[in-house]
Amino acid sequence: MELKGVLAYISWSHVNLDHIKGRYVPKLVVIESRSRKEIEVEMKPGQQLELMVIPQRYCIFRKPDGKYCLSPIGRLHVESIPFCERCYNLIPSIKCIVGEPQCKEEEAPKSIKCIKSGIYQDRCKVPRFHYFLAYPIGHNSVYIKVGIQRETTYPTRVLEQGAPIIALYAKTPNIWKGREVEVESRLVLEEMVGKSISGLRIEHASEKKRTIAMVEKLVRRRSSIASTLESFMEVKHEDIYDLVVRLAREVGHVLAERFRGYKLPEVKVIRAIDLYDMDEALLRYDRIEEITSIRGTSKFKGTVVGWLGSCLLLKEKGILRIIDLRRLRGCLINISIS
Ligand SMILES: [Zn+2]
Repeated sequence: MELKGVLAYISWSHVNLDHIKGRYVPKLVVIESRSRKEIEVEMKPGQQLELMVIPQRYCIFRKPDGKYCLSPIGRLHVESIPFCERCYNLIPSIKCIVGEPQCKEEEAPKSIKCIKSGIYQDRCKVPRFHYFLAYPIGHNSVYIKVGIQRETTYPTRVLEQGAPIIALYAKTPNIWKGREVEVESRLVLEEMVGKSISGLRIEHASEKKRTIAMVEKLVRRRSSIASTLESFMEVKHEDIYDLVVRLAREVGHVLAERFRGYKLPEVKVIRAIDLYDMDEALLRYDRIEEITSIRGTSKFKGTVVGWLGSCLLLKEKGILRIIDLRRLRGCLINISIS
């Protein structure tokens, strides 16, 4: 299979977190160059992949009529949001897009731009899920964070960060209430730093850690289980996920009780590490390379090892590349899968 087009996003919306059936890979949504239609592509463990990425970015702003802009972008304002200058001017503020509303609920919509761009209808007024993520980073410590996601794109944001353990704790009716709960949730977590819960020390609680850095730690751990460690160590490593599940349940309850008006009927804890599709046998490597950005035209090839969130694990001989495809959104790509 060959495909050329602009990478729009990496979707996990086909996964129903209430009925998890086995393992999953994300769907890459590519706007095909010729037809300008959205094409979904999957890359599964064991497949041979050639991926060419051209650094020129194209605007993936979606107009209210559903069509993508696709103009070449001169200067990128926000790396994670590839919009062209003209589309920037169509929206009220980039902050509204990243979830920091620039008006009060009572005064919304603030301008005609809010409605014309569709931001008010498609973003501000949409209910939000609130989630908690936990990543084991040592034998007995964890990194934790909270986040928020629109109901309409759920659970892509929840899953794309590659967290092994997830807890869902609240649902808010719109961006304004959502933002309040999000900001306060962060404060709740910050107070937990340095404390021990379920025998695990909370090492960090911040938004600043990059997904790929956490994914790399997970890969190194899983690889060492798969290859070198003795079986008794294996047991120990696997146990940490059970501890993290307990921790997530506990923290999830603290958060749910804190936001009683919005809490879900039950805190839902998901062992997402078992949901990302990966061929453990392919996890041995000599060297790991992280790819989060590209300078010139880049070509990656090899065997697909699997996925952790939006990070593709691709192996070429002894090199295991972790490619965060989310950070290449808007790039022109050429995919060949066999
Ligand atoms: Zn545009």
